Amino acid sequence: MAERIETDALVIQRFPYGESSQVVHLLTEALGRVAVLARGSHRPKNSCEGPLDLLVRGRVTLSLLAGRELGMLLARRIATDHPALRRHLGRHTAACALLQRVLHFEPVGGGHGAYPLLERALLALEQIAPERIELLRLKFDVGLLELHGLRPDLDQCVRCGSPRRLARFVTSDGGVVCTHCLVRRDEGAPVDGATAALLRGLPRTPLREVASPSPPVLARARRLVDLHLGWHADAAPDAARASSRPTSRWRLPRG
Ligand SMILES: [Zn+2]
Repeated sequence: MAERIETDALVIQRFPYGESSQVVHLLTEALGRVAVLARGSHRPKNSCEGPLDLLVRGRVTLSLLAGRELGMLLARRIATDHPALRRHLGRHTAACALLQRVLHFEPVGGGHGAYPLLERALLALEQIAPERIELLRLKFDVGLLELHGLRPDLDQCVRCGSPRRLARFVTSDGGVVCTHCLVRRDEGAPVDGATAALLRGLPRTPLREVASPSPPVLARARRLVDLHLGWHADAAPDAARASSRPTSRWRLPRG
């Protein structure tokens, strides 16, 4: 029997389906990422204030059947379409980059902790000074890594445990390596104290309290996080599959 669920949700992906419907991926507060059919969402009269667009948050009523990946969207009431993100190219681009991260890392059925992370980030992105958008993106990525238990280890050498002479970040080891333990001098990517301190502090500090780093420190931190994300994205086949699943393989629920 189908289960009926009401929850808050953000639209993170949508595809046209047939002449007037959509297949929509929602990041929900109660269930994480779900895929649903929004039947007739393009019709003038529909039950979901449709059609559904990316980045729109609202209250949804879903019908889900155990064993089926695709549920039904029964109703939706829009809370916000994040208008400030649509008026500013830099904010909109950053918001879409956050969605891509979620799509890549959260398979359907996953992403329970990612909803509040994404909701907070989108609200902050509407108001943040444009020169701090990159810092916000970095904080989001570090938060997502932490949710998955993939926080880079920056406190001590991942090979010997020493907190001293930390020199390079080695993605395959998931953290920093001291000069003594490096196999090659050019192993991994360089890391310095300011970059490590920024990355350590980001998950536990509200963004408004994080001082703007210098451009080189921000660039180095970005590079390390990209390397770390890339390593784990490649090593996570479930996540990669989730982002590229074609609509034709979905089974449609009845009723
Ligand atoms: Zn060491």
